[in-house]
Amino acid sequence: MRAVIAERTGPPEVLRVTELAAREPGPREIRIAVAACGVCFHDVVARNGTYRRGVEMPVILGHEVAGTVESLGSEVRGLQRGDLVATTTYSHLCGQCRHCRGGHETSCPERVFLGDAGLNGGYAELVCVDADAVQRIPAGVSMEEASIVACTVGTELNAVRDVGRVQLGDRVLVTGAGGGLGLHGIQLCRLAGAFTIAVTTSAAKAARIRDAGADEVIVADKGGDFSGEVRRLTNGHGADVAIDNVGSPVFGAVRRSMADDGRMVLVGQVTGDFIFINPAQLFLRNVSILSAKGVSRAQLADALDLVARQRIRPAVEDVCPLEQAAEAHRRVEAGLSTGRLVLSPLKS
Ligand SMILES: [Zn+2]
Ligand SMILES: [Zn+2]
Repeated sequence: MRAVIAERTGPPEVLRVTELAAREPGPREIRIAVAACGVCFHDVVARNGTYRRGVEMPVILGHEVAGTVESLGSEVRGLQRGDLVATTTYSHLCGQCRHCRGGHETSCPERVFLGDAGLNGGYAELVCVDADAVQRIPAGVSMEEASIVACTVGTELNAVRDVGRVQLGDRVLVTGAGGGLGLHGIQLCRLAGAFTIAVTTSAAKAARIRDAGADEVIVADKGGDFSGEVRRLTNGHGADVAIDNVGSPVFGAVRRSMADDGRMVLVGQVTGDFIFINPAQLFLRNVSILSAKGVSRAQLADALDLVARQRIRPAVEDVCPLEQAAEAHRRVEAGLSTGRLVLSPLKS
């Protein structure tokens, strides 16, 4: 099969297309003929060496996969050749532990992230994953859209609905609004009936962010304090919920933007920087810090359903052949695109 391999960490040029033998699926695995694989910021930081956890070189990156079931292990039930599936971003989950059984499989102690651990990832013609780690794609969702739903719509559904518990009329702050997570978080907040304030560092992305459903867009300099503007836009009240897709660089400004009883939901971190907080600044105002990590299969099913019903539009910016993987990484690293770039081995 053709695949994009990185032999070592480094600049985008370490990504090169090569031919190698495809792995056979294990008893509980399926092998997917990849139609589309999203290029995530995660892939960029795994490739350049910023993110190391679970990353084994040489590696085939890519966890945002949609494709066709091409072959199945002997113990797989409920799927057959030709079925269209999207991955949950994991290649292996035990399916037995309390986290897996409780619908929180993103905390499974056996979990293996798809694409980080050696030569089994989605930047390829074929990839093997546990049958338990995929979801069927409903009619009306394209393969390009389906590939990115888990990591973008699904993660934000987790953050907005299940962790942030955004309610009708809530004032919600969404940071990193022009990115792959933010654009979908805004759509979900709108669907939930919230008043949504988006923060971006890019004036060029403001129109696109408004288009996604933001009521207000704040263009702030990197590291700038936008909390005064959030107060003004909420008549002094502040944000009831913050969906923070950025992390350390905005933590202080987000904290200062929170209303009493507010909930900060941490879902992204774009740098390796640490932050300092005085706990009293949180508990004296009853502000909670919560975390949303990844997407469960049930959340992915709901996210795909929202797309099939055209309530949410996945932001796919461009579909490129595998040969353009390095160029795609350059574009993602530069932060120029609004919406996901998708690689497709079916394109040349
Ligand atoms: Zn991703
Ligand atoms: Zn488990």
